[in-house]
Amino acid sequence: MAIIYNWGVYPKIDADLITEKIFNEIWPLIKNQSEVIPRGNGRCYGDSALQKTILSCLKLNKILHFDAEDGIVKCESGVLLSELLKFIVPKGFFLPVTPGTKFITIGGAIASNIHGKNHHKEGAISLHIESLELLTETGTILICSKESNKELFVHTIGGMGLTGIILTATLRLKRIESSYIRQKSIKAKNLDEIVDLFDKYNNYTYSVAWIDCLSGGSSLGRSVLMLGEHAATNELPAKFLGNPLKTHSDKQINVPFMFPSFALNKLTVSAFNFLFYNKQLKKEINNTIHYEPFFYPLDALNNWNRIYGKNGFTQYQFVLPFEKGKEGLTKILTKIAHSGCGSFLAVLKTFGHADDLSAPISFPKQGYTLALDFKINKKVLSLLDSLDPMVIDYGGRLYLTKDSRMSKKTFKETYPIPFKHPEKFNSLQSKRLEI
Ligand SMILES: Cc1cc2nc3c(=O)[nH]c(=O)nc-3n(C[C@H](O)[C@H](O)[C@H](O)COP(=O)(O)OP(=O)(O)OC[C@H]3O[C@@H](n4cnc5c(N)ncnc54)[C@H](O)[C@@H]3O)c2cc1C
Repeated sequence: MAIIYNWGVYPKIDADLITEKIFNEIWPLIKNQSEVIPRGNGRCYGDSALQKTILSCLKLNKILHFDAEDGIVKCESGVLLSELLKFIVPKGFFLPVTPGTKFITIGGAIASNIHGKNHHKEGAISLHIESLELLTETGTILICSKESNKELFVHTIGGMGLTGIILTATLRLKRIESSYIRQKSIKAKNLDEIVDLFDKYNNYTYSVAWIDCLSGGSSLGRSVLMLGEHAATNELPAKFLGNPLKTHSDKQINVPFMFPSFALNKLTVSAFNFLFYNKQLKKEINNTIHYEPFFYPLDALNNWNRIYGKNGFTQYQFVLPFEKGKEGLTKILTKIAHSGCGSFLAVLKTFGHADDLSAPISFPKQGYTLALDFKINKKVLSLLDSLDPMVIDYGGRLYLTKDSRMSKKTFKETYPIPFKHPEKFNSLQSKRLEI
């Protein structure tokens, strides 16, 4: 038994963490367990990958096959995106979808049906998976794809580990000429402006806005929009031409211990938000940067979750349909600004249509998605409880992989399509929400 928690350090539980690198040895380990949940790198925030018995897939870490002609890679489910990038980028390929950290596994990416800054153009990871091998509740290993075991394939993508253990996955990659991004950053003075900017620039492949959620009044929603496109070699500044397909480095600054819980307060969060907004002096900046700072700025700081202290934090990520999305965002941001519960990080993106290749509990659907980090305390928990009905009213829903606290009622109202899964695979979250 060991104390296990995910990225939000909340909740923490005593659990048996078991692991194995040979497929055929996994079933004997879990055969007699009445309940088990697979786990990747624990980068979900809450209790999705927690259970008394946890099967860690991190030892399933081999890249098995690469087809350079068609840009297709097959790998074991515990391979980290950071490792896959090191393998594919020098060959002129990139991940079709990537989240805000590269320290997640392929299995975790599929189980959460991850989205990136390109959902409005290129969808979630579901659209880029050719097939997967799944260890099911009977101990059999099934190959699942659009052609065979389709229902299981679809229910596993975004299925939060509840259908079985993903052993391998085959995915289609994106071709790139360089590992650099042509970036455009634009400051927006409030929510009206940032919403207009998202509209105006919706032809960009990548878009994301960082929002200062402590500012209110006429500055409510002031933000910086970051847009990007993969740079072709003939667009690269001369200084990058020597190694146009350079991969990321492993260097990180480490946060060595849990910060005391008073370290992150309204004052420090306000100061951070002020500095972030004002570090860009011009209205618009155009430059070319490596994929690392564009996609993974937070990865520069190892263990940054420790900044929130030992009580941990949660990420509140919701999506609201476009129709009344601006109105909903205004109400929610106003409530947060008034509460004084500052969020260090608040990130706004847009989603295209939901796809029909993922589970009914998969998160993305068309609209605005806002993600906010909050240090866990009583005041924050009651603030979030008061935001849930607004999300429901505006036809939205919360992202399961970030959640540790939503109620069963909120879940049922926002994910109304029943999702059946074998009893053997259950997490604390699936129990809490009666999924
Ligand atoms: C800094 C940061 C930024 C992030 N940004 C984004 C973002 O932009 N977009 C986004 O979509 N997500 C984002 N996330 C969330 C993250 O991508 C997901 O939580 C992802 O699932 C984590 O992968 P993991 O390998 O750590 O899996 P875990 O956290 O260990 O598990 C997550 C879920 O996947 C299941 N799972 C894991 N491995 C397997 C397997 N082999 N078979 C079956 N099920 C499995 C688990 O049971 C659990 O339900 C971010 C997280 C962090 C910490």
